[in-house]
Amino acid sequence: MAKHTIVLIPGDGIGPEVTTATRRVIEASGVSIDWVELPAGANAIAQGFDNVLPERTVAAIKAHRVALKGPVTTPVGKGFKSVNVQLRQRLNLYAAIRPVRSLPGVKTRFENVDMVIVRENTEGLYSGIENEIVPGVVTSLKVASEPACTRIARYAFRYATRRHRKKITVFHKANIMKLSDGLFLNCARKIFEEEYPNIDYEETIIDAGCMKLVQDPTKFDVLLMENFYGDLVSDLCAGLVGGLGVVPGSNIGEEAAVFEAVHGSAPDIAGKGIANPLALIMSGVMMLRHLHEDTAADRIKIAYNAVLEEGDKSKLTRDLGGTGGTDSFADAMVAKLK
Ligand code: ATP
Repeated sequence: MAKHTIVLIPGDGIGPEVTTATRRVIEASGVSIDWVELPAGANAIAQGFDNVLPERTVAAIKAHRVALKGPVTTPVGKGFKSVNVQLRQRLNLYAAIRPVRSLPGVKTRFENVDMVIVRENTEGLYSGIENEIVPGVVTSLKVASEPACTRIARYAFRYATRRHRKKITVFHKANIMKLSDGLFLNCARKIFEEEYPNIDYEETIIDAGCMKLVQDPTKFDVLLMENFYGDLVSDLCAGLVGGLGVVPGSNIGEEAAVFEAVHGSAPDIAGKGIANPLALIMSGVMMLRHLHEDTAADRIKIAYNAVLEEGDKSKLTRDLGGTGGTDSFADAMVAKLK
């Protein structure tokens, strides 16, 4: 069996708890991995690095090409530039892929939700270009470039084709942001018309799109959008299938891939042993598929579906109506994988 070297970034907040649980589950699936554990965020500063994203961590991801990452706190309004944004920009992880699916045993308003959000990950309002024009007046630049818009559109159509998905819906606000969202839309249309006319294609203004999502998410398939909308719509969609504890993600570039849950560091529940590790475990399944370890990925998926379906409250975390914690869910998963 091939041995993989994976960079493991525990992160902070609930990060160390959910990464430990995920590592246990991945190891129990029988796959052979050398973990290279490196810090990012507050942990990096605590360990004596002078940056929240140490060069050593970036270099290791470049060298090994795959990382599994826990969440990292992003300070509000001040301090270092977000680790997540830095990582995506420095490694050119231009596509965020976030599958949102109904899960067995997880009761929500809707059944049979099965969508994938494809989020542009490198520009938009996340350019970090902000200026104070005069005291009391600031601007934030929303950047859209034709290569980046075309690249993410092509990624979405290629993904849809490979995964036998039927339809792509672009969320936009080109009626107001005529140049930036207009460019995003034009690039998507061009890829549809010139390269993938066999996939159904539609566009929706984002506010109406959000309404349609909460009315009936089963009408959507692949959702394509720019960076900021992708952030908001990801959390909205998580709410449709059981919350942030059950939505995984990957950040994909030509040179590297970083797998992480959609949720943040959840400081309100950090250190209490109650965080749901499932979103990161599912991100780990996406990572295993990326590594062509489909047998291990399938085993983990079967195991979490079984634990959820059995509905033993003592094994489930509180966000899913259980009475257990991070470790009891991981223990149940490991027991299934033995
Ligand atoms: P960020 O902007 O950094 O991505 P966020 O705004 O998405 O963060 P989170 O930190 O992800 O916010 O979490 C929002 C709330 O959702 C948390 O305060 C927590 O109560 C809940 N939550 C998030 N992740 C989990 C999890 N894995 N298990 C249980 N609850 C969670």
